[in-house]
Amino acid sequence: MLRFAPSPTGEMHIGNLRVAIFNYMVAKQRHERFIIRIEDTDKARNIVGKDTEIMQILEKFALTHDSVLHQSENLHIHQNFAIRLLEEGKAFVCTCTHEELEAERESAKAQKVAYRYSGKCIDVDKKELAALKENNIPFVVRLKKPDHDIIYHDLIKGDIVTSPNEVDSFVILRADATPTYNFACACDDMLSGVDFIIRGEDHLSNTPKQIHIKNLLGYEIETTYAHLPIILNDEDKKMSKRDAVISVKWLFEQGFIPDAIANYLLLLGYNKVPKEIFTLPEALEWYRLEDISKSAARFDIDKLRFINREHLKMMDDKTLSTLFGFADEDIGKLAKLYLEEASTISELESKIKPIFSPKKFEGEWAEQMRTMEKIIAEAPMIGTFDEFKSHIMEKSGLKGENFFKPLRLLLTGAEHGPELGDIYPLIKSYILEIAS
Ligand code: GLU
Ligand code: ZN
Repeated sequence: MLRFAPSPTGEMHIGNLRVAIFNYMVAKQRHERFIIRIEDTDKARNIVGKDTEIMQILEKFALTHDSVLHQSENLHIHQNFAIRLLEEGKAFVCTCTHEELEAERESAKAQKVAYRYSGKCIDVDKKELAALKENNIPFVVRLKKPDHDIIYHDLIKGDIVTSPNEVDSFVILRADATPTYNFACACDDMLSGVDFIIRGEDHLSNTPKQIHIKNLLGYEIETTYAHLPIILNDEDKKMSKRDAVISVKWLFEQGFIPDAIANYLLLLGYNKVPKEIFTLPEALEWYRLEDISKSAARFDIDKLRFINREHLKMMDDKTLSTLFGFADEDIGKLAKLYLEEASTISELESKIKPIFSPKKFEGEWAEQMRTMEKIIAEAPMIGTFDEFKSHIMEKSGLKGENFFKPLRLLLTGAEHGPELGDIYPLIKSYILEIAS
């Protein structure tokens, strides 16, 4: 069982999408279930509607899932698990105040050592719990740190060993009785029977904590982990919220298409591809998660542009037409003529739109354009481009530059572009609308 567990706290970025794609892919390859868990327990950071947006993005990429769960639905289960751990003496109640903990953190910082919980409350008897509640004394629940190293094998990073001190006696239930991320995540993975976890390497230090939680709760199913290397921006820095490029929404706005984005994300840090341009269903046949590079990958928008163009070339003409509001496959063919100079849907649109917009009869060629417009209006049903050309040449008496420049402006609204002979057959059924 695999899962994608996004937090509805911000824009879905390419790093998240990459995680979703990998989880989906591995689920398909292993013929296992793939579930979505919206991690919405951080009420202060949740953004209304983000969950729906995430689901819509997954749908655009055809990352089909078996079920969806909102983590908050499991709140009572999380709390019950925490109580069970308290009762079993595996967790304890901590009443250290914010100030105390802050002071300890400061002193660790001053001594240049990593902060660890002091262990002060580790012996607080659970019998004191009732008294704390009665007297309204705030407390959190901490898990006792493990008494042995937590060792796991990561498919990409190799063996990871974490000492008990690094795991530390960390908080699992906050003072408001809500679970922390690590606790909710581990409980839910356990409840759903997730046994293959793929996520970003920013979670490397969470994994031993989650393993410790699952161990203490008695979860026996062995879990495989794969932590994907981070994606760097073009300055070789970790992508941050400031990099607009990271958001999937931004990529869509720029006119990148899902097939190309998925292709690009699968290529990042992977050099065993049998071919560079492929679709996700194709990749299912040969992609091996464990062959992905250990080191960070760099986001290269030019490469994405190249891949996008290749996918647009492969797109069915009719489907491409519909992106520009036409049902007729000729407009898809027309758009493809522009793929020499355009790589995205929006760039193509900036070429197609002027063709169908009213022309500007101004400047150097205005007069010739008027002449041609009239000739076309009188006899719009001309067959081939050669026939069309000769007809206008004959009627207007125009030749050479005097003929071709205004004709191109009249038909395309632009001074340059693909051969008119290639364009004409695709637009001739719209000629009256276009040449005006
Ligand atoms: N909700 C976490 C995040 O968006 C992911 C949790 C996980 O994959 O374990 O970073
Ligand atoms: Zn304490």
